Amino acid sequence: MLLKNKIALVTGASKGIGKGIALALVKQGCSVVISDIDDIELKNVEEEIKLLGTKVLAVKCDVSQKDQVDNMIDKTKEFFGGLDILVNNAGIYPFKSFTEITEEDWDRVLSVNLKSVFLCSQKSLEIMSNGASIINISSIASFVGFNGLTHYCASKGAVNSMIRALALELADRKIRVNAVAPGSIETPGANNPDENIKKQTISMIPLARMGQAEDIAGAVVFLASDLSNYITGQTIIVDGGWTLR
Ligand code: NAP
Repeated sequence: MLLKNKIALVTGASKGIGKGIALALVKQGCSVVISDIDDIELKNVEEEIKLLGTKVLAVKCDVSQKDQVDNMIDKTKEFFGGLDILVNNAGIYPFKSFTEITEEDWDRVLSVNLKSVFLCSQKSLEIMSNGASIINISSIASFVGFNGLTHYCASKGAVNSMIRALALELADRKIRVNAVAPGSIETPGANNPDENIKKQTISMIPLARMGQAEDIAGAVVFLASDLSNYITGQTIIVDGGWTLR
């Protein structure tokens, strides 16, 4: 086990990539705080983790709201006493052409995908010890453009930039800050029932398959563990080779 007795918090953990990350961290020995805006699915994940014999705390939280984030971290402190690993995963990617994006759309995407990283990371630092790790789920959309996702691309590009500065600030506390940039991953949020679109997507991926939550979770476990002790401020692309061409 790579993360025995560590305490990890994963946002957006009710489904998709976040759920996969939470389960992978549990497998590596972590106790976990799972949080999500969707507290019905969150309860199911909580039960699944309890059945594995792992200590788990589930907290409903909209990561774009400071009072809810503060409450989530206060509850983490009460329940576990501290935090070793923060995974900022919760994010939204509503497709809309640039000319139709409203100010509200823009603010929502930037709040959920970027402001949340500020809020969750800053508050978590109050209960993190030296040697802790912060991992952010970015996207290949921070490196390449996607039609209908200008606000999303901007938010994820900003995450990559932000973590470089934060990694510098936290280096004296030996707290490492990194990101994982997934390609096309099969999740409830990204699900497209059109088989043709799926085929077209797979044709863009050199490894010739869609990614799974476990593919992203593997990189997160690596970044959370001592195996990556000398890596900070980096964004690791996990996309089956999509961005190679
Ligand atoms: P998903 O299947 O939609 O799951 C995301 C979870 O986060 C859902 O339970 C969602 O709840 C929750 N959530 C949404 N807004 C939230 C908020 N304000 N506060 C707390 N929780 C919130 O998404 P996913 O595909 O797993 O994506 C997870 C992360 O990976 C995101 O940051 C996304 O940008 C990134 N990513 C995904 C892909 C991909 O292909 N799937 C590719 C690149 C990057 P509701 O369902 O109720 O909204």
